[in-house]
Parts: sequence; C-alpha cells; structure tokens
Amino acid sequence: MEKSNSFSKSTSFVTAKKEFLTDFLLRKILLLSFICFFAFYISAQTTAPLERAIRAIGGEASLENAGSFSVAMVGMLDLKVSGQGFFAAKSQIQRRQETLIIDEPSRRGALRMEGINSDGSPTIWRNTVIGDSGFQLNVKTGRIIRMDKLQTAAMYEGLRWRIPQLALADMKRRRAKLRCGESRTADRQIYDLCRFETETGLPFTVLFSRQTGQLAAYEYTAPTMLGTKLMRYEFKPYVSSGIGLFPSGYRFLVGGEIYANLDLLDARPALSEKPPWLEPPPTESKPVSLIAQQPFASTEEVAPGVWFVRNVAGYNSMFAKIGDCVAVFDAPASYSRFGEPVPPATNLTDRSAIMINKVREITGKKVCYIIPTHHHADHFGGIGGFARAGATVITAPQNEMLTRSVVKAAGISAAPKIRFVREKLTLGAGDERIDIWIVKNDPHAEGMAFIHLPGRSIAFEGDLADYFPSARNLLNFIGQKDLKIENLFKVHSANPASPVYLQWEEPFN
Ligand SMILES: [Zn+2]
Repeated sequence: MEKSNSFSKSTSFVTAKKEFLTDFLLRKILLLSFICFFAFYISAQTTAPLERAIRAIGGEASLENAGSFSVAMVGMLDLKVSGQGFFAAKSQIQRRQETLIIDEPSRRGALRMEGINSDGSPTIWRNTVIGDSGFQLNVKTGRIIRMDKLQTAAMYEGLRWRIPQLALADMKRRRAKLRCGESRTADRQIYDLCRFETETGLPFTVLFSRQTGQLAAYEYTAPTMLGTKLMRYEFKPYVSSGIGLFPSGYRFLVGGEIYANLDLLDARPALSEKPPWLEPPPTESKPVSLIAQQPFASTEEVAPGVWFVRNVAGYNSMFAKIGDCVAVFDAPASYSRFGEPVPPATNLTDRSAIMINKVREITGKKVCYIIPTHHHADHFGGIGGFARAGATVITAPQNEMLTRSVVKAAGISAAPKIRFVREKLTLGAGDERIDIWIVKNDPHAEGMAFIHLPGRSIAFEGDLADYFPSARNLLNFIGQKDLKIENLFKVHSANPASPVYLQWEEPFN
C-alpha cells in the first residue's frame, strides 16, 4: 500500500468514502433497528410479567373465581422489629395467628389477628370493612376504632393485596400505572420488578419470579423509629389449596429483619350465607379511645406550672416547669402499621415539634429534659426532635444504645445528652420537684419510667394502666413506695383518675 500511485490513491479514497458511507448507513440502520427493537421490547415488557403471573396462577378465570373465601395462617412475630417488645434490643418472638375472610361481590372483608403482647397477655383484634365503613375491633374488650372512608378504602386494599389473585386483578384493572422493565437477582433467583402505586398514589414495587412467573413480593419504604426502612412482604412458594394455587405463607421484613413469618394453615372457598365477622358493630359500641375526639393539642394547666396536653395527634403528653427549664413527659410518635402488604397511609411520625412549640408558646422557656416513659416506638420515637432542641434524654440504662440510634436516625450527628435513671432520679426541689422512678417488675417493658410530682400529688404513666398485669404491678409499686397521688395522668386515656381505679379500669389491651 505504501507503493500505491496517485490513481490507486484516489481509487482507495473513493472506496474509503464509499465504505465510510456504507458503514455510516449500516450503523444508522443498526442503531435505528436497535432503537425500534428496544422500544418494542420495552412496550412488550410493560405488562409482560403481569400477563405471565396471571397465566402462572391459572389464567383470567382464576382471578374471577377469587371472590369469596377464608384463609388461616399461623406463625410468629418479632415484637422487637416493630419497636414493641419487652426488651429495647433483644428479639421477642411471639405466636401469631391470622384469619382473612373476603367477599368481593359485596365488598366486605375482615382480618382477625391473634397474638401475644410484650407482657405475655393475649391480644385479639379484628379489622373489618363493610363497603365504605370500616372499624378495628378489640375482640378482648369489645372496644372499637371507627375508620373514615379513606382509611376504610386503604384497609380494604391491604386485605386484597394479601391475596395474589386479587392483587393481580387490581394490577390488570389499573395496568396503565404498572411500569415494568427492570430486574434483580437475589439468592440465585431473578425477579422482574414493576413499579405500581396504591389507589391513593403511594408508590411501591411488585416483584415477579422469572423462574415460576408467579407474583413473589411487594416492597416499599416507610419511616420507623430507626429511620426510613425497606418494608418487604413476600409470598412463600405456592401450593395447591382449597381455592386453587395459593402461597404457603408469607414473611414480612423490615430493613432485612424478619418481623412476621406465617405459614398457611387452611384456605377454603365460599363463606356461609351470613359470616358473623362481616356484620356491622352496634352503633353504641364503646370506642377504644376518646383522645382523638379531643381538640388537637389542647392544653390544661392542671397544677401551678404543670400542663396536660390532650391529643398530641392521638396521644397525651405533659410538661412541667422546673426552675428556668421545662421537662416534657413522653415523646409521642406514630409509625405506619407494620406488616401491611402495600404502603399504608403515611401520617405524622415524630410529634416533638408540637410539644416544643406548645412549651414555648405557654412558658417562653426551653425544654431541658425529655422523659420518655419507655422504649416503645409510640413513646420513644419523638426523642430526636427534643435532642435537636438541646434537651437531655432521661431514661433507663438499658435504653442507651436505642437512644443513640433514634437520635442518629433523626439526622443529628452530635451524641445525645443522656441521664440514666436506675431506680429513682430527682429533678428540682420543693413544689416543682419531679421524681422519675423505674417501676420494678413491670411486665410490659424493661426500664419502665413512672413520673411523680410529689409537691402536686400528680403522676404520669404510659401503657401501665392499659395492660392488666402492669396495672396491678403499678398499684403495688405505688403502695410500696407510699407515693401520694391524687391524679394519675395517662398517655392513652383522655382523663386522669385516682390510682385506686387501676383495679377497676378495664384495660385497653
Ligand atoms: Zn408500650
């Protein structure tokens, strides 16, 4: 080629140009066809995993037949994962049984959940939807919580998505919202991932197994006391049951930790003519709590320098002046219900800002101390906001690691100020004196604090009056320590009472 003349040079130039053009065209054609193929592939992929899952479960007919049936499951819950165990940091595995009944044609359903509280006492709840009205019934006490229309719709959606056939029917009905195309490999399994959303627009991911084609799991993120975590509801391998192919159970994981692990006991079709669980409750049924009916964050000065705050978004709290400072009792917070297949409605989590503002508005002073009654998420989850405002957390030594984790999860890099109370800790003096006791032998939570203002004959408790064994234990504790209390204020009841009523009060749980 080095010896080539000008002619061959020009020829090779023409050839090169020709080659270049051909190459360019070829590339363009290739690229275009690739784009076309890719576009076709994407459009074909959009709902392909859904179609495959419908075929894998027995076709369209099996979706239409999934109208009326009951499913029973038994297994375990780890109360520590939901922030409700006896120990702050140790697993507490308790038995759990669930029965789900659903009657699609009449839009009625119920989920009965039977388990064990952290104190070992039984707990039985039944969530029921009848058309547009829904309620949560505490089967043990007969008390109910009525749901509004939106909460009811979300509750019904949560029931449906526990049943793969009904979940697939929902995806098919709203297939325009289904976005597939991604995949993931985990434990040598390949999953097709599809983005979807609840009826109210909360996003979540649906996972389909590439191997079996079956609907495999749902994932979404939700806030917890320890920060935002990935929630995963996963079906166990499908088996043939009384209602066709059905998962042999499910697991619920929170940030990779197993919260629920249940196995299918029985699945049967056709409910009886009048399932008793699907009857509406009497209109005069006693509600579980009157707190939510109180005006939001309504504040009452119950003794000089002591305020009781009702309905801090569902909970009560209290604060008291102490010198140039204020101490707040309990750090209320609220997190989504654990174990829901699709994201439940998000609501306010950490309630500390409500209290900090209230304290400033009424006293003009700052919160120096936050005293959570115990480590459960609804009493402890708000400590981050108080720590950010400079408050010292007063708690039992067992809660040290949890305190650090919760404060860190709230985005505070500085280590929290903590003061430990082992048996008793006193703040202030005279009428303003605050004694913080650790209640010995309380079965509900280790390191349970009880707050007593001896100069005011006032005390404040969280959960102790609501569980039968704890109520009796507290009554004994008050007697043994000879604490003078006229009014016992409670996180979970709207009105205070003399401690003697602990023996007559019907515990909530
Ligand atoms: Zn508790």
